[in-house]
Amino acid sequence: MELDDHAEDLASDLGVDKEEVKSDLQNLVEYSVPVDEAKQSLRRKYGDGASGGSSTPSSREIGEITPEDGNVTVTCTVLTAGKRSIRYQGSDHVIVEGELADETGTIDYTAWEDFGLSPGDTITAGNAGVREWDGEPELNIGESTSLSFVDESLQITQEIGGDATLADLQTGDRARAVEVTVLECERRTIDGRDGETEILSGVFGDESGRLPFTNWDPAPEIEDGGPVRIENAYVQEFRGVPEINVSEFSTVTELDREIEVGADTTTMAIREAVETGGIYDVELVGNVIAVRDGSGLIQRCPECYRVIQKGQCRTHGDVDGIDDLRVKAILDDGTGTVTVVLDDELTADVYGGTLDDALEQAREAMDQSVVADTIRERIVGHEFSVRGHLSVDEYGANLDAERFGESDDDPQVRARAFLEEVERVTEIDGGADAEEVDA
Ligand SMILES: [Zn+2]
Repeated sequence: MELDDHAEDLASDLGVDKEEVKSDLQNLVEYSVPVDEAKQSLRRKYGDGASGGSSTPSSREIGEITPEDGNVTVTCTVLTAGKRSIRYQGSDHVIVEGELADETGTIDYTAWEDFGLSPGDTITAGNAGVREWDGEPELNIGESTSLSFVDESLQITQEIGGDATLADLQTGDRARAVEVTVLECERRTIDGRDGETEILSGVFGDESGRLPFTNWDPAPEIEDGGPVRIENAYVQEFRGVPEINVSEFSTVTELDREIEVGADTTTMAIREAVETGGIYDVELVGNVIAVRDGSGLIQRCPECYRVIQKGQCRTHGDVDGIDDLRVKAILDDGTGTVTVVLDDELTADVYGGTLDDALEQAREAMDQSVVADTIRERIVGHEFSVRGHLSVDEYGANLDAERFGESDDDPQVRARAFLEEVERVTEIDGGADAEEVDA
């Protein structure tokens, strides 16, 4: 059924103007409220609450809630509660997001009003809406929810407060607390939704790894280089890689202790790495099976720095290109493939010459594709270990290489080490499960 038909239905049921209903409906649907839920809330708005067809929501345990549930009543503990500003119907709106838990599980929630939730509170949320996000149920706590604080506490095993290491963090996480040192930081001016604004961007590190960040409301403690404790940060994907967002609602405090930054990175099978949806720092090992077009000696637009073809930039038209070196190579480890992108320096290494050498070779051959051919001869069919940032988005899986080295491992030795690692991880997993059951 089209939105128009839904609006028609509602308008005749409620006896109100169709255009008005339609614009309300459109707003809710644009904000990814499921259409049935949107209709219910409009029935309430236009005073048809009693005959809306929704029965009294039943009390549920969190572990039982499915995306098919309409409205539920839950008693649970607030694990995290973080404020965030979103733009809704053209104006800024502050929402509270986080995670709730009871003895049976955890669920993400969004509170559309400030109910004063804090981590550790036990609450009963009556008539909370269930919506589906990424295949999982989420709770909407809004106008029609009756919320009350409960004195008793639940026997939950989850940690309250949202503390995490950088390696724990995933895209979509809300209201997290991390203790990090600032590895890189620069102040930039960007075109924000309210005009030009200054932000900080860079890289955080802790014992578990590194992640890029954006600090939307520059905190002096971060600009000073840390170490800092950050509360109420959220994680969003930026250019295919998870990024920590430190907002105006986050708290940043200077830390007394030093933070060692782990030098190790995770080595993963390519398929497993791609399935994570993007990792800031990862090592992949595989064979280079091809060097793609657009490798070797290339030209970039002087305005936007994108690669141009025959002196034509897609945005800036006819331009005087800047010569540069780049490689886009396909790496395959038997489980999957990624495109490895080498910058000018790494490309010069695998080419075995400088940009001037490449220009000279191209001039002699009167063809610039000879540079890519030379690189192809040197790396295709060889095994490499690559470390860098993996992004997975509409452009595919790309690994921006920071390091690219011929893998000198004996494949048999590595296979054995890999098997041992799998067995070790299996044992640890088994142990952790057993502990959870005991607790
Ligand atoms: Zn351009």
